[in-house]
Amino acid sequence: MTRPNTPAQAWSALVDGNHRFVEGSPAHPNQDVDRRAALAGAQIPFAALFGCADSRLSAEIIFDVGLGDLFVVRNAGQVIAETILGSLEYAVEVLGVSVIVVLGHDECGAIRAAMDSSIGKLRAKGEFIQNIVARIQPTVTTAFANGKHHIDEVTELHIHDTIDEIMTRSKVIREAVETGKLGVVGANYKLALGEIHPITTVGSVE
Ligand SMILES: [Zn+2]
Repeated sequence: MTRPNTPAQAWSALVDGNHRFVEGSPAHPNQDVDRRAALAGAQIPFAALFGCADSRLSAEIIFDVGLGDLFVVRNAGQVIAETILGSLEYAVEVLGVSVIVVLGHDECGAIRAAMDSSIGKLRAKGEFIQNIVARIQPTVTTAFANGKHHIDEVTELHIHDTIDEIMTRSKVIREAVETGKLGVVGANYKLALGEIHPITTVGSVE
């Protein structure tokens, strides 16, 4: 696989890889000893992924890519923090990725926890789990106020809000999108099917 160099090429490579994964015929590209050796000096990944840490969302597996292809940043519920923005800026400004994928998924435990918390039923006690829940809470409040009570609706809104926050707060990422060097895709991953469902795009990946 030659390295995709435009947002359209990068997104297309990810879509193709996901199709192979869904069909059960992955090519496992760039996972051999030669690739490992070739990358030892430097990395030039073509895409960045910011997704949920859920163990079923293994980035390189679901997009059927290999070593050095994806710059991956994940935490529970894909919640923005300064360190996340810094990591994504590094991927864009220094590594030159052409696309950022913000990836949520169905039945996300973090989203569910934030929804439970909204009705006073959060079960987890961890002090710092509260940080995750608090970051998703405004989205839950907005969703509930608009009559959206299904977890899929909240997850979709959370992906929109997350991308809005990235675009609002990061000048580097905003400018890369404005100059056509970068596209941002928000998508939802279907656990049972293994499918990536795009929800929103900023910039062009066509
Ligand atoms: Zn999740």
